[in-house]
Amino acid sequence: MSAKILDGVALAAQIKSRIADTIATNSLEVGLAVVLVGDDPASRIYVNHKKKDCDECGITSHEYLLPASATQAQIIELVAALNADADINGILIQQPFPKGIDVVAVNEAVSPLKDVDAFRAETVGRIAVGDYDAPSSGQSPLSSTFLPCTPAGVMELIKSSGVQIAGKECVVIGRSNIVGKPMALMLLNESGTVTICHSKTRDLAEVTRRADILVAAVGVANLVKADMIKEGAVVIDVGMNKGADGKLCGDVDFAEVSKVAGWITPVPGGVGPMTRAMLMQNTLTAYSLQNGS
Ligand code: NAP
Repeated sequence: MSAKILDGVALAAQIKSRIADTIATNSLEVGLAVVLVGDDPASRIYVNHKKKDCDECGITSHEYLLPASATQAQIIELVAALNADADINGILIQQPFPKGIDVVAVNEAVSPLKDVDAFRAETVGRIAVGDYDAPSSGQSPLSSTFLPCTPAGVMELIKSSGVQIAGKECVVIGRSNIVGKPMALMLLNESGTVTICHSKTRDLAEVTRRADILVAAVGVANLVKADMIKEGAVVIDVGMNKGADGKLCGDVDFAEVSKVAGWITPVPGGVGPMTRAMLMQNTLTAYSLQNGS
């Protein structure tokens, strides 16, 4: 058996095209602030990708560079200025931050109306209580709430497989605040039977073999092997790691797992582009929330 590929580049292109249409048709002036603290080369690449996505969607990206020596107070001061700037609809602060910066304090400084990364506790709390409307595939790019970009992108990828989530065994490996936890909540909200695994999980393979839908968000190259997969499962690889050959690879052993799974995302070209498409969607949602349209 050879798994079908869930193509994140193609799906993201469709979503961005709908966003671009909405912006062009209604002559909207939408702005995204991207804040980069320090000169981490990987962060610079991510920021460049986001700028390209903005260009494709007709969103103006405003870049703000702070030195690695910037203090938490200086970052929060910049965020406050961006909160007050009417040209800025969404604020993204590229992570990871240099050591010593309190991530939660910086995230919480972002206006609730501009929280396009959906990292604020209030936004995650809305996901926990199911107080959001997830725009279903192919529908309007607008939502009334910000959705955590990576989990929202994963939901779109799963839906594009045609596999129903309701009633399925869903396993998420990873329990971070930005991926694993909101991912599990979103699957639960769609009536999946959800198990969350982490570094203390006793027998990971025994749990993952039950999964009809498996999401790996770990950060360990090729952790998930073929003998950990149920035949025909949907396997979503969130991981972005450097492999032994120095190339980008995921948490899933793609070559072997794709012989067992029913659907699989590649790395690169799976979750990454979808995360960025969801950021564009959240930025349009921010515009809408701020302008009552
Ligand atoms: P994180 O905060 O480091 O969380 C990793 C999670 O994996 C933790 O919950 C950890 O468990 C768990 N874990 C670590 N080793 C494990 C093991 N051997 N078995 C089972 N669980 C294990 O990372 P993150 O921010 O969620 O990101 C995860 C990965 O996704 C990274 O590679 C990151 O680069 C990637 N990522 C990709 C995108 C994208 O757009 N494609 C977006 C965000 C993140 P404990 O909680 O017990 O420590």
